[in-house]
Amino acid sequence: NPQYPAASEAIQIDQDAERGRFATATRDIQAGETLLVEKPHSGVLLAEYSKTHCQNCFLKCPIPLPCPNCPNVIFCSDKCLEAAQKSYHAYECHILPLIWKSGCSVTCHIALRMITQHKKDYFTELFKDLEQKPSGPYKTEDYRNIFHLVAHEDKRTKQDFLHRTQMTAFLVKLLEISGYFEGKQRDKPVDISEVKSMAVEDKYKEDVGLFG
Ligand SMILES: [Zn+2]
Ligand SMILES: [Zn+2]
Repeated sequence: NPQYPAASEAIQIDQDAERGRFATATRDIQAGETLLVEKPHSGVLLAEYSKTHCQNCFLKCPIPLPCPNCPNVIFCSDKCLEAAQKSYHAYECHILPLIWKSGCSVTCHIALRMITQHKKDYFTELFKDLEQKPSGPYKTEDYRNIFHLVAHEDKRTKQDFLHRTQMTAFLVKLLEISGYFEGKQRDKPVDISEVKSMAVEDKYKEDVGLFG
């Protein structure tokens, strides 16, 4: 499908006010025919699998490789270790126990991963025309496409908004203590006194505006 590379040419994606975004068959579809193969924009491994499965590709690891900086995760290969270290795990390394113990849902962790998997510069650059939907084929890896997904603000309850606001404050605080705003990986575990307050240092005001 030229417009949606992850989808088969047997479906066409359209959008209207009543139905939202929807797919229609462009020809007869056989039983068992694959219509969509899409790599997720972002994904995280659940805490309970962190000592048995690779943090990066989620496969089971018979011979695990540890992270050189924390006891929280394992990797299946040098390739996965390196990929994670160069990206999200550089910042999540020491804050993972906090994420897991906070009781925040996997969706909240995915929200954080959507940020930590890219450098701050990526978002600073995107922010300039974030309101503009990207043109051309739909790329799942493009954050702007995720940003423009329907959020159903008009159907959400006050409690839901409150929860989301609190979670945003927590995740922004995690970004601060992880070293993400500075682009510098922290080198020691988090002390609980660091998260007594969700206040973020004044010098990160712009970062709070960008990521909050
Ligand atoms: Zn792996
Ligand atoms: Zn680590």
